[in-house]
Amino acid sequence: MLIVGALMTRPSIFISLVVSSAITLMPASAQETPAQTASPAISENVSSFERAAGGNDPGYNSPTATADDVKPFDPAAATQVWLDSVPRNQREKSNAYFEGGYWLILWDFVLAAAISVLLLTSRFSARLRDFSERVTKIRNVQVACYAIPYLLLVYGLSFPLNLYENFFREHQYGLATQSFAPWFREQLLGLALTLVGGTLLVVVLYAVFRRAPRTWWIWGTVVMIIFSGALVLIAPVYIEPLFNTYKPITDPKIRDPILAMARANEIPVKQVFEVDASRQTTRVSANVSGLLGTTRVALNDNLLEQCSLPEIRAVMAHEMGHYVLNHGAKLLTYLGIFILIGFALARILFDVAIKRWGEKWGVRGISDPAGLPFLALILSTLLFIATPFLNTVVRITEREADAFGINTSREPDGMAKVALKLGVYRKLDPTPLEEFIFFDHPSGRARIRMAMDWKAANLPTGESHASDSQSATH
Ligand SMILES: [Zn+2]
Repeated sequence: MLIVGALMTRPSIFISLVVSSAITLMPASAQETPAQTASPAISENVSSFERAAGGNDPGYNSPTATADDVKPFDPAAATQVWLDSVPRNQREKSNAYFEGGYWLILWDFVLAAAISVLLLTSRFSARLRDFSERVTKIRNVQVACYAIPYLLLVYGLSFPLNLYENFFREHQYGLATQSFAPWFREQLLGLALTLVGGTLLVVVLYAVFRRAPRTWWIWGTVVMIIFSGALVLIAPVYIEPLFNTYKPITDPKIRDPILAMARANEIPVKQVFEVDASRQTTRVSANVSGLLGTTRVALNDNLLEQCSLPEIRAVMAHEMGHYVLNHGAKLLTYLGIFILIGFALARILFDVAIKRWGEKWGVRGISDPAGLPFLALILSTLLFIATPFLNTVVRITEREADAFGINTSREPDGMAKVALKLGVYRKLDPTPLEEFIFFDHPSGRARIRMAMDWKAANLPTGESHASDSQSATH
């Protein structure tokens, strides 16, 4: 299965789709201005905005005043000031990186489709099935004998694009920290996991196809949901440690404020983890992964080095939002609905196509593993078409976590700073249509606006003494 193959070679992507949807941020690049030095530039710009806003306010006369003192606080103008604080060349670079990603969605799909068509029309798929039938009489083993070479072949044919997309391009934009050898070692590790997990899934699905040739799309969905759930459940324990080291955060200055927020929301964690993501990337990120008892909140080392405590609190409160709002189970449910619709359409399309081309391709029916590339073709096409809808489902969930995060952390400026760091690789200010189609997280503009709206609405509470005295004088 191409989808599962793609998901399994990059477990973090799968996990982020299903459960964590990590708030992923990063500094410009290893060579560029680090986050710490970016902050003064931001506050400088905010001060200039304050000065500008102060000009309209007769009561404003302190040039060192914070944004909180600006009355009235205009969230739209404040949002624009944050956005304008990003240097133009940096914004152009991140736009280029993100917009290039739009095309990669297309090329990934075109390549996957081309591989499927090639395997079918060349009858390579039929010959691989014949080979597996000569090897053994046992049906499940036949499917495994088909699946392993199939997965290897798909990986091999996709490798050039994979190499460009995940190695050269990441280095080109200063996002990667690995040289080729360790990167390739992790690729092989991912491939090994794909072979184990992918083969197991294909064997189980074909057992379902043989027993339920008419209703396989229903039982197949059940298999996919169980498989996805199991993958998310075991990922923090068995998969993630293969790529990175997780250790509890011991610095009380970081740990205690995070655990305090966790306690305030009755999240049963005793420790927060740090992951050495700098092994692979310069991106700053945090995530919640796992399901039920394996749920774990982890901050990456880039984030710990480059973000201030208010920013860390903003990020962690967002991740806690995923936990408290039960996003793991919800996303798994939404994913299940997508899979059910996809399998129902696949059942119809598969039968129609096999009547027409089955003989030419040497595919006998749904329970024949030779039809696997065709099933992959249908599902990858549907997945491609569903991109805006899947992104929207995930983005709405992320927005919920943002809302939870800002209310829990009460760090609007921290949230805005984090959104800017994230904007280094995610287009900060897209058009609404672009955001709908391509964004699996709210854009930087949307996030900063939420933070500034919150700030505007909460100024009296946050500044209770000041507002008391002001209401007395007004
Ligand atoms: Zn998130």
